[in-house]
Amino acid sequence: MTSQVPSAAELAELKAGLHRLARNLWWTWNQDAQDLFQELSPRSWQNLYHNAVAVLREVSDYELRVHLMEPEFRQRVREVLACFDGYLKEPNTWAREGAPALSGRPVAYFSAEFGFHETLPIAAGGLGVLAGDHAKAASDLGIGFVGISLFYREGYFQQAIDQHNWQTEYYSNLDPKNLPIEQVLDAKGEPVRSSVRMGFTTVHFQAWRVNVGRVPVYLLDPYVEENEEHYKKLAARVYGGDSTTRIMQEILLGVGGVRLLRALGIEPSVYHMNEGHAAFLILELARERMAEGLPFEQALASVRSECVFTTHTPVEAGHDRFSNELMGFMGQKFVQQLGLTQEQLMALGRVHPSDSHEPFCMTVLALKGSRAANGVSELHGQVSREMWQGLFPGKAVKDVPIGHVTNGVHLPGWMKGTVRRFWYNKYCDWERANGSAQPSAPHIRTADSWERLVNSPEFWSRITDPSVTSDEELWSLRYKLRRQLVEFARRRLLIQGQRISQRDFIEFDQLLSTDALTIGFARRFATYKRAPLIFDQFENVLKLVRDPLRPVQFVFAGKAHPRDDAGKSYIQKVIHLSKHSDLKGHLVFVENYDIHVARQMTSGCDVWLNNPRRPLEASGTSGMKTSTHGCLNLSILDGWWREGWDGVNGFAIGEDSHPTDVAEQDRRDSENLYKVLTEQVIPCFYNRDADGIPRQWIKRMRAAIGKLAPEYTTWRMVQEYVAKYYLTHS
Ligand SMILES: *Cc1c(COP(=O)(O)O)cnc(C)c1O
Repeated sequence: MTSQVPSAAELAELKAGLHRLARNLWWTWNQDAQDLFQELSPRSWQNLYHNAVAVLREVSDYELRVHLMEPEFRQRVREVLACFDGYLKEPNTWAREGAPALSGRPVAYFSAEFGFHETLPIAAGGLGVLAGDHAKAASDLGIGFVGISLFYREGYFQQAIDQHNWQTEYYSNLDPKNLPIEQVLDAKGEPVRSSVRMGFTTVHFQAWRVNVGRVPVYLLDPYVEENEEHYKKLAARVYGGDSTTRIMQEILLGVGGVRLLRALGIEPSVYHMNEGHAAFLILELARERMAEGLPFEQALASVRSECVFTTHTPVEAGHDRFSNELMGFMGQKFVQQLGLTQEQLMALGRVHPSDSHEPFCMTVLALKGSRAANGVSELHGQVSREMWQGLFPGKAVKDVPIGHVTNGVHLPGWMKGTVRRFWYNKYCDWERANGSAQPSAPHIRTADSWERLVNSPEFWSRITDPSVTSDEELWSLRYKLRRQLVEFARRRLLIQGQRISQRDFIEFDQLLSTDALTIGFARRFATYKRAPLIFDQFENVLKLVRDPLRPVQFVFAGKAHPRDDAGKSYIQKVIHLSKHSDLKGHLVFVENYDIHVARQMTSGCDVWLNNPRRPLEASGTSGMKTSTHGCLNLSILDGWWREGWDGVNGFAIGEDSHPTDVAEQDRRDSENLYKVLTEQVIPCFYNRDADGIPRQWIKRMRAAIGKLAPEYTTWRMVQEYVAKYYLTHS
């Protein structure tokens, strides 16, 4: 470290480096990078909701310069930038051996939503978060990858709860200047433009690039002068508006996405549709092939050989369907360009092509236009084969060509700061104990070695060994994380209470306990997820909560779709209980669930509750975010948990089966949930030895961390997509 005064050139370079860093989401999964932004202004960091770009705008050039005069800070900026540049330039990525064919001809991954970070709220839920994690892992693995989505200028809605405990929605305007995005420019420095046809109108669009480590994700944006007001706003909100808005957004995504790739000179080798929203890309690709002289059938066959499709839900509402009229009007260009009749076009989106009453289903188009398709867990694969069997007449269910790739999470991104540092230090301990020369420089590892490490089973088996990490250390980690969550929830509740000037306000320190077994539930309030299920046993739950020796408490969060009144009534029920029943103080609802709330909760809870109506939870990915934090899953054997649970690494509610009668299912699941809770979860958590340590619980934590953390990652998942879907041709 040198205390010499830095040259003006060096200062300018470091300043530029920080700005570059803020506009690449890599910093969100590198703790040292994040620490730099946070330290520049801890208060702005909090007030600006962890927005590195906005923090840098807040800090004047002069102030930044002065900070950089400080040798220690300057040195850390240098190290982080060296690590960042090393990451960007690393030649020896996994993909060099694992997917060389994709380097020149990338995967084009289309998704209506991407959840990267709380500062770019363009995701509605799990589908988007998965897409964001997919992109981050593609970057870590060094895969040729481009993402395509829309720039929603009002993002996804923010949730506020009114006096009647009813969810209301509000929207804020996202300002590109304050976001980690860059306008896409051509060689002359002009914004890249293209257009698509919708009905009688030509809709123009520009694009923004999100830098996700090594890979770009492009967001199409129709908010340009040439468009009429109505069209400018067509992508204002994630899944906003009626089915007319929906089909327009999807034409923009599918057709516009392909045109943007062409404008940028990108030639993908495979098009991956993340859910059916982007399936119009098939028709645009077919149009291109026909322009090269192929007749429609051959053009479609050729397109099929380049497309793959992932379906994400068995729930009907998750599959867009458009009427004959809407397709007839909005899709008239498809009919003309592809030389089809309206009926022939409709047939592409129908299970029964000649059924003139059947609407146009985007999932059907995606399945018909893809060389391969998959669900997102083993059980979901099975359910999808049953669901879409009708598309494959004569095939038995088991032969329906829909496989599965079980979802994962981007581990380096989902680890909370406390936990990143904890495991990092533990690994250094292990290295020291095992005689490796000099452990890597404190906190900093070069290039992608940290990403590789945390995704390897060896890493987790080494550091979860009791000789490296003792029970006492793990227990104290749990205490830190639980306290962080409790304090986070109290702060949020304070703000929520102030907003509606609530009279029945709970004293700050009466709210939740930092010692109690903390059960978390946070996900979209879709009814099949049955958020209030546990309160079916209200009197019993009350006893558990009031037990002075073995208390439990609950933290809930989640948004209902703006038009889902049943979901909203579930929210109302939970909040009502939290305020007006004897659960008060032991049950809280944290408003405005998003990636930040998800991170606090999946790290701070002791138990992660998941009680969907099986088999409707295709994956249930949030449970995977808990593992590195030592939180245990308590879940129905649906989605990923049916594969992940091994009897020790968490808890199962019920059997690997379900009754056909829904009322019966709800009743049984509620009983089983209470049974597991009282017979297994609570006794295990509170069974402490003479030193006050719950040895059996910690044994389960070790099993969860060691087995689940390295398995349920997008690092594993994306490799599986490469092997099974990206590099194989049928
Ligand atoms: C992880 C995540 C989800 C997905 O949760 P499920 O378990 O699939 O219900 C949804 N929303 C946010 C904000 C998330 O971080």
